[in-house]
Amino acid sequence: MQCPPLNYQLPYTFENGLNFNGFNAQCSGCHQPIELEQLRGSLSAIGLDRCLLSARGYCDACDGITCYDFILTATDQLNVEPLPRQSTTQPL
Ligand SMILES: [Zn+2]
Repeated sequence: MQCPPLNYQLPYTFENGLNFNGFNAQCSGCHQPIELEQLRGSLSAIGLDRCLLSARGYCDACDGITCYDFILTATDQLNVEPLPRQSTTQPL
């Protein structure tokens, strides 16, 4: 499945004016930083001040893919919390 580059969708602006400009992605395999340009995914609003970030980053160094799933919450300031790992895969 092809997702659009994440930076096409950045900065993401919340209803209250806070901006999300991206995050420091790191490869889960070799811990190298992953450029914003290498991230693909989507940002979807799940409320006025909450947004689901779901992205995949491609690592040049080890040819690996790292998945990022975060909930962004914009109240007084922007909070990024990892989504608890849950089984979102299809049953066989
Ligand atoms: Zn890597």
